[in-house]
Amino acid sequence: MGMRERVLDVGRGASLKRAWGAPRRPSGRAELLFILLIGLSLGIPTLPRREALRVFEIEKGRAWGREPSGPTFQIRARRIVEPPPLDIEHYVLQLTLFPGERRLEGRVTIRGRATAPTDDVRIDLVATLTVARVLLDGAPVPFTHAEDRVRVSASLAAGQTFTLVIEYGGQPTLVGRFPSGMFFSHHSGFPVIATLSQPDGAPTWWPCVDDPADKATADLEITVPPGYVVASNGLLEDVRLHPDGWRTYVWRERYPIATYLISIAATNFVEFSDIYVARDGTAMPLLYFVYPEHLDRAQRTFPVTREALRVFAELFGEYPFLAEKYGMAEFPWGGAMEHQTMTSIGSSALLSVDTIVHEAAHQWWGNMVTPRTWHDIWLSEGFATYGEILFRERMYGADPGQLLRQRDDGLASGRLGGTVYAEDATDPFDDIPAIYTKGAWVVHMLRYLLGEDRFFAALREYGRRFAYANASTEDLQRVFSEFYGASLEWFFEQWVYAPMRPIYAFSWSVQPEGAGYRLRLRLEQRQTHLVPRRDPTRPPVYIMPVEFTLRYADGTADVKRAWNQARHEEFTFLLERPPVSVAFDERGWILKEVLKGES
Ligand SMILES: [Zn+2]
Repeated sequence: MGMRERVLDVGRGASLKRAWGAPRRPSGRAELLFILLIGLSLGIPTLPRREALRVFEIEKGRAWGREPSGPTFQIRARRIVEPPPLDIEHYVLQLTLFPGERRLEGRVTIRGRATAPTDDVRIDLVATLTVARVLLDGAPVPFTHAEDRVRVSASLAAGQTFTLVIEYGGQPTLVGRFPSGMFFSHHSGFPVIATLSQPDGAPTWWPCVDDPADKATADLEITVPPGYVVASNGLLEDVRLHPDGWRTYVWRERYPIATYLISIAATNFVEFSDIYVARDGTAMPLLYFVYPEHLDRAQRTFPVTREALRVFAELFGEYPFLAEKYGMAEFPWGGAMEHQTMTSIGSSALLSVDTIVHEAAHQWWGNMVTPRTWHDIWLSEGFATYGEILFRERMYGADPGQLLRQRDDGLASGRLGGTVYAEDATDPFDDIPAIYTKGAWVVHMLRYLLGEDRFFAALREYGRRFAYANASTEDLQRVFSEFYGASLEWFFEQWVYAPMRPIYAFSWSVQPEGAGYRLRLRLEQRQTHLVPRRDPTRPPVYIMPVEFTLRYADGTADVKRAWNQARHEEFTFLLERPPVSVAFDERGWILKEVLKGES
């Protein structure tokens, strides 16, 4: 949807940006700025517009009242332990799985370099696993293994490269909220071993520097008993058959991957495949691994994957792992997990199009661009959730605002009352509605603010700039501010770093005036809390452009926009004819609560 606006400024030096593109400074007194809007046309296809309205309109925003004293919010960020000054470049995981004993034996090679002088080489590995031997640059070295870390006494100069080998084994345990780690389970009597490491489960089954910002390439050489097939990241380079019937599956991930995205799934999988054709004609395999008893089920829904990749490639830029593959492997878990190039999907989610699409969107948001810290997890989950919305919009013509409202209870104190920026990095999934659904609302509101063309251009540039690396919330804010043409600090303050939402009360009235009519739109913000502002001259209320849909007796409609940045504000328009109804934010661009019975 393209937006076209022509604004003729007859006020006091107001520019287009001041009228619509960016918030004005609060004046603290009656707003005297008059803006003449000529032929305001928003081209909204869902509204009946049998004739173009050709009227001259005057919009007047008038603010009054004083701020009540209310609670303000501050981010209480809890950070995880700083990672060691190491940059890991490559991992080789050589694991042998013993499903009957729920046990593994492993040899993991870690190649990296020191980013600063250090005598503390620290690798994350839970203490319930037993380390047999550590080699540094080929020679056995003394080590300690306590508090879930393997420590090697070695002095590394800044920039010095090293190769560390850790030989270990044991029965993996699960950790955390989901929980995460390596699962030993069964389906129809056959064992299945699978992993889900987000956010911090990787060290429960393999040694690594478990920091989402330290991406590396990885080889996975997984040895399994007869009858097992292993699905993993990257390309399957080889399957080595041993004399005793055991097999080693050799998968290689050549794109940088975060430790939490490295995964394996092993059982008596059956496979089927599809082909994704990129926009440049490149054909890429889609590989699916499912339990034999669920093949029919998976074959019904998995073809939507191809469509999801096609839609997202158009919107976000080409599929980021085109030289490898995309795939899905069934695993014993309730949901799904976007492991890079090989999503793991739970048996109960095989028929969920939203889930399949969500994990596909993560290949861009989460995997290609990975959150720098767990505080930034909404850059992964909010964007993947909005991917579900975008897919339904592009494929089936669904209304994005309506889809998002279906996932919201409309209450300031309701499900989405939390903070999008995850305050506790040690438990980033402690408020899933805020991170996923409110996060998706934030993306939707950025789209509203920037308009279609600038929003998707900004999104693609954000993807391009941080591809195969990491981005923080500040990085996203910087890119979108560039495309917006002004700082978006006020937007991120109120929607990302603060909990809650605005509570609006809206009323309108129309009176004859001269040859036409004067329409008064009164908008009040009734929330009791104050939006925290770094810049104290910015009002502690929600700053947003707002839309009013005017409907006329002949069935036509018109949309007026105004900039709301005061707790009490009145907007005035001169019209040729009176509307029979006026709706506030009818298309659902803003996350809000609207008080009923006020208009
Ligand atoms: Zn997700």
